Amino acid sequence: MAQRHASLYFFDGNIALMASNNFGEKTVFRVHQSILSHYSSVFADMLTMPPVREAETYDDVPLVYLPDNAEEIESLLKTIYLPRSPPLYPRLTRCAPRIIYHLLNLSNKYEMNELRHDVVLQLEADWPTSLARWDQLEGEIAGLADPDGDSMRYLFPEDPLPDPASAIQLAYECRVPTILPAAFYQLSRLSIRCQPDNPSRCKPWRRTANWGLLTAGDLRRLLLGREGLLQVADSMLATGASDIDSQIHWVVDRCRGSERMEVMDKIREECQSAPDILATLRGRTTTEELLTCQICRRRIRDRLKQVRHAIWTKLPKLFQLED
Ligand SMILES: [Zn+2]
Repeated sequence: MAQRHASLYFFDGNIALMASNNFGEKTVFRVHQSILSHYSSVFADMLTMPPVREAETYDDVPLVYLPDNAEEIESLLKTIYLPRSPPLYPRLTRCAPRIIYHLLNLSNKYEMNELRHDVVLQLEADWPTSLARWDQLEGEIAGLADPDGDSMRYLFPEDPLPDPASAIQLAYECRVPTILPAAFYQLSRLSIRCQPDNPSRCKPWRRTANWGLLTAGDLRRLLLGREGLLQVADSMLATGASDIDSQIHWVVDRCRGSERMEVMDKIREECQSAPDILATLRGRTTTEELLTCQICRRRIRDRLKQVRHAIWTKLPKLFQLED
């Protein structure tokens, strides 16, 4: 015996959709053909087909059996009929990829492009596609943590933030390649010991990954990307150092070329041992006491900003995500 859905059963609906949950319990949704067709080209095509004689009905309207899980259909219809409840899922939550996995799959299957677009936008908020948004998100996450990290440990015994390995899996399965560079970069700055059941070992701020979800190909990309990041940062900083070093700012009393070289060498060294090059370079761009000569200081800061942007742009190439 099928159950009518409590809220997604409209008295003036002109089509009934039936689906079963994992226990074989059937739910009927009574919705509108015009709405389904508006959001889904698959439904639009299906509903313009001439009605089959003796087609099955439910409550006097045509009945369509869907092979999908009833709970997944429920969340899909809710995003259409209850759009006043954004975001589609809570931001910055660990299980977000799992929550939206089915939503993306169904929106792919039924070609619901608007819905897919909204889901992808929200995913990209967790896995930014630009350096400016990445920095903004880093600030937001840092704001969640106590300076010594203790209060978060108390509030959340486990890592509460999105898992890069799940995001990578989702990106491949649901065809959302735009989130891959940020997810791989996030992985690249974690130690493999950063497991969800043992977040206390992890930096920055106890982020972890479900390493077991990664394929051999993902691990290969990760290793290549890690090496590539170090090489690119080092060669760009080396070039930067020689460019900057060719000038002495005579207007400034204490401009020393050797001092500049020293600072650039120090930054290069720091980057080679840092798991997170973008954060290391960013920290340096805001340090005030870099140099006595203000012009040199500004030149170095500008150079570090350029290097950060160049590294961000190269992420897809470094992690071999382009093919
Ligand atoms: Zn100078």
